[in-house]
Amino acid sequence: MNKGILYIVPTPIGNLEDITLRAIRILKESDLIVCEDTRQTLKLLSHLQISKKLISFYTQNQLRKIPQIISMLQQGKNISLVSDCGTPAISDPGYYLVKEVLKNNINVISLPGPCALTTALVGSGLPTDSFVFLGFLRKKTGKMKKELEEAKSINKTIIFYESPHRIIKTIGTCQEVFGADCNIVLGRELTKKFEEYIRGTISEVLENLKNREILGEFVIIISCTEDKETDDKITSEF
Ligand code: SAM
Repeated sequence: MNKGILYIVPTPIGNLEDITLRAIRILKESDLIVCEDTRQTLKLLSHLQISKKLISFYTQNQLRKIPQIISMLQQGKNISLVSDCGTPAISDPGYYLVKEVLKNNINVISLPGPCALTTALVGSGLPTDSFVFLGFLRKKTGKMKKELEEAKSINKTIIFYESPHRIIKTIGTCQEVFGADCNIVLGRELTKKFEEYIRGTISEVLENLKNREILGEFVIIISCTEDKETDDKITSEF
């Protein structure tokens, strides 16, 4: 019997229009869909008028669910893996499943699509040529500082995810590590109604945040390098 295929299917990070035609077709053609929160995925599927059997797969149950999913793939079922938003396996459960599926010689096909980190990076105006993505930082200040210091030493654009209730404290830690004048951009509620980019030096952005209500989802991008080479090139072209 032919084995099935595991498709990694990115879904919107806010705006429901941000899903590819191929992703919709693969979801329709799959025998079942592995997702995180079934309520979240049902909202998307009902928008797309797709009705499918769902299997919930999240951090706490993932190790238990993997053998069941692999067994269905071995029986020839084609399965789509989605997450609550964006690209599965990017700061989402998914990595362990992909790893185990490959270990069992089952084909994995990854579809391109929405991801909060790339959406924020390319809209930030900070250097995109090389960057380091840290996912969610460690919560304890000492560990967070160490992580940021290691990233700083690589001298590339730094990107990470953060929840709204920790953002002021985390940016305060960034100020200690990178200094007040380093450039920072916060991508907030990207692709949604209240999408915005908050740009400035770390001290300016910190001040801005202290004077407002902090709501929504954030991607944080930091670059301390002066992109003088590009600035000079652009100036001389004009
Ligand atoms: N797999 C997702 C992706 O491809 O980006 C990331 C999932 S992770 C659990 C969720 C985090 O992504 C949020 O806490 C936030 O930092 C970031 N995020 C997701 N959607 C976002 C949006 N629309 N605007 C800004 N940040 C977003």
